[in-house]
Amino acid sequence: MRFLHPEPSSSAVPVFPVFIPFAGCATRCVFCAQDIQTGVPLRPPESILRSLEESFAGMEAQNPARDLAFYGGTFTALPRETQNSFLAVAARLKREGKIRRVRCSTRPDAVSPRRLAALRRLGLDDLELGIQSFCDLPLRASRRGYSGTEARAACLKAREAGLGLGVQLMPGMPGMEEKHLEDDVEQCLELRPDTVRLYPCLVLAGTALAREWEEGAFLPWSLERICRLLPRAILALWGRGIRVIRLGLAPEKNLKENLLAGAWHPSLGQSLRGRALQLYLSSRLPGEPEKLKGKILCAPRRAQGEFFGHRRELRPSYAAMGLEQKQVRWWNNDFFELLEDSL
Ligand code: SF4
Repeated sequence: MRFLHPEPSSSAVPVFPVFIPFAGCATRCVFCAQDIQTGVPLRPPESILRSLEESFAGMEAQNPARDLAFYGGTFTALPRETQNSFLAVAARLKREGKIRRVRCSTRPDAVSPRRLAALRRLGLDDLELGIQSFCDLPLRASRRGYSGTEARAACLKAREAGLGLGVQLMPGMPGMEEKHLEDDVEQCLELRPDTVRLYPCLVLAGTALAREWEEGAFLPWSLERICRLLPRAILALWGRGIRVIRLGLAPEKNLKENLLAGAWHPSLGQSLRGRALQLYLSSRLPGEPEKLKGKILCAPRRAQGEFFGHRRELRPSYAAMGLEQKQVRWWNNDFFELLEDSL
């Protein structure tokens, strides 16, 4: 019995992030605290550009080169000259072999076909859209200011401009029910972005959501609920060849100090990926535990770090399936195979 690892294999390279917290944002979204999430203070774009140039000054061409990413604001709503000067520096770094691809993140209501075409000509390769949800109800409850139709249209515009597409979703945002998350995943399966990031909604100090939470008007989804719902979503996305490149916010010091409520754990990604893998294996391995007696499961080495979850939390549920830790062996093939234990 042999089956492939469910996660699409990745040619991703490390990213050099340039954080432009809130730059270009017309309003502060209810849940957003970019300075806290990224651990980067607010700075004018000119100063960010100077630091970018300094970071690469004197550097040789890189092999492999990293990707350069402008994160944390609404890039396409920055003054046109600012967008152009960021991309001019990025294009030069690309010509010099110091970076590989260039991406930026923005809102779905801040993209026009004309601007995207211009950015593509200036060397932008990938666009990440902070969609959060494709469903009108949570979008309205979160006061996002665009509809699900506009969110879908933005994804299509990115594709038409010849850009790689990344989608960010926010399970548990205000107004969201479980069926909305299912719809959001369905939309992704149809739109086929290259990447998805899943950021469970958190309550961070200083945000409008923090006030709603203090007044009892908003309750974020629990860690238990996120751990129940997201593995199925991840597995569905993997199954369509979509890479899930981020699960939850990174454990920045500022984040831990300002987190008031919500499903966050420093090892959330490992935990969710492990559960998605277990879900997959439970659909592939024999259903009766006794059928795994005397067998070993050879598993791709790339699954080793997450197979049993965070601190081996999944060991009991694997044991209930009839698979003990000693029955799992790692190999360099990218498929799983159930073999007779000849030892
Ligand atoms: S969620 Fe996006 S658009 Fe809203 S304030 Fe944050 S960075 Fe700006």
